Amino acid sequence: MNGQLVHHRAEDQGAPAVKPAEGKPEKIRCDACPVTCFIAEGRTGACDRYANEGGALVRLDPLTILENRADAGEGTGELVPFLEREWDGDILPGQESFITAVGAGTTYPDYKPAPFIVSSQVEGVDMVTVVTEGIFSYCGAKVKIDTDRHLGSECAAVRAEGEVIGHVTTSEYGSQMLSLGGVNHLTGGSKKEGRVTCATLLELCNGGAVDLTIDGGAELTVKAGAAPIVNGAREERMRVGCGSATVGMFAAQWKGLVDEVVVVDDHITGVMSEHQAGKVIGWAPTGIKINGRRSTPGRYFQVAEPGTGWGGTDLTNPLDILGAFNPKQAWPGLSLLMVSTTGEHAAYFELDDSLTPVEKPIPARLQPSVARIEENCEPAMTSVLFMAGAGGSLRSGVTENPVGLTRSVQKALTYVSCGGAPVYVWPGGGITLMADVTRMPLNAFGYVPTPALVAPIEFTMRAEDYRALGGHMDYVIPLADAVKGASGRQNDHILKGRRSVTPGARNPWPARPGNYPWKKTAQ
Ligand code: SF4
Repeated sequence: MNGQLVHHRAEDQGAPAVKPAEGKPEKIRCDACPVTCFIAEGRTGACDRYANEGGALVRLDPLTILENRADAGEGTGELVPFLEREWDGDILPGQESFITAVGAGTTYPDYKPAPFIVSSQVEGVDMVTVVTEGIFSYCGAKVKIDTDRHLGSECAAVRAEGEVIGHVTTSEYGSQMLSLGGVNHLTGGSKKEGRVTCATLLELCNGGAVDLTIDGGAELTVKAGAAPIVNGAREERMRVGCGSATVGMFAAQWKGLVDEVVVVDDHITGVMSEHQAGKVIGWAPTGIKINGRRSTPGRYFQVAEPGTGWGGTDLTNPLDILGAFNPKQAWPGLSLLMVSTTGEHAAYFELDDSLTPVEKPIPARLQPSVARIEENCEPAMTSVLFMAGAGGSLRSGVTENPVGLTRSVQKALTYVSCGGAPVYVWPGGGITLMADVTRMPLNAFGYVPTPALVAPIEFTMRAEDYRALGGHMDYVIPLADAVKGASGRQNDHILKGRRSVTPGARNPWPARPGNYPWKKTAQ
């Protein structure tokens, strides 16, 4: 063979009873997920994560060790996020190390302890970290896309490669939200739907770009931490606020420069002369008429259909939302500025003798206010939060009494991290967590073809709390041994290598006592 590893699945073989041909080495069985590949020498399993090298089962991605060096500490400004190097096993004075689950291997099939259960001393406190790569059938990504543009109706299907992999969910302030993945798309549809859902989540969570289409809506390219691309155009700005908020923010700056201002917004269009902000600073009525549903004075809903034009509407001509001016209040020469919530669209009009708006160049006196709106917009970004339920069987890798872990997490006695990155644990039952993928080491995620995503997860707590929740105390190994390459006796695989990464500058050190209520109480 050419030295390249190729994968081989149990189901391709009619496994499990695989008898080796005469003189050929026996295939080894990987039981790190339900696929249970039988892997021939020099080949990898179906997920490309494990291989048979010389008859040994090898976890191919290097074990990732977080390294917090005293000379590049948090907040010094010198630390390079996720600086990567091959781990040489040395621990320098003042250095802290943390074994992440990236490359650690899985607990599956869950009757055995997690691959690494590591003891350490942090600020004089005996701590234990349980480390495993979780296999998540219940997982997905919540994607926040900073744009005013209408991407699709709420509940509209989101597709990748033509397959439905999620839907548009409730929009937030200045952002459109997608809910991708989840157990129904991974397991409840066709084989292709599950495969494409898994592949898309994997790419997105590992920091890659994915192409999505929304039924009845936009075409997107999204990547965590990067500006979204909507219908081929890179989104530049997140809106300064809704139309009403924009009117309020800039009312005083426009006073005396123009007779009327309309801030066009798909959700709440603001009209200066009627708005509370205009009233309190003495703005005179203009007789303007807006074609929309009036909510409160100067705030209008549904002025147009959603779209990718002015302020997230389908408008290309803002005058389409105006009715006739009231001749009792309006006057020839009345000046009107219409602007969108990002300042991307702006136009200036003056009423002629018949009180019809006539477009004119935006006067120099108003240009700074439009520029100020643009200046106040934040750069548009795509945020990807991995969301998963860890309340299932992987808890058995931590404890003989799984609910003990759940309770310990809920009491904050156990700190949960993903690849060393902090997570948000939802209140209520189970361990339902969210993690910002940009705070995790690159390529922290894998997959198995069941299909499910593989994500790193670590549980860190005081040794006494670990004992109390029924932890596998007999399998604890010292951190110093783990960083030198030792692994627990429960493991049936060996590690291919180790790599060191420095933690993201915004990430708290996962074993820091400050993460726990007992430390705060002691203070
Ligand atoms: S898919 Fe991967 S983890 Fe699952 S059995 Fe095969 S090699 Fe092991």
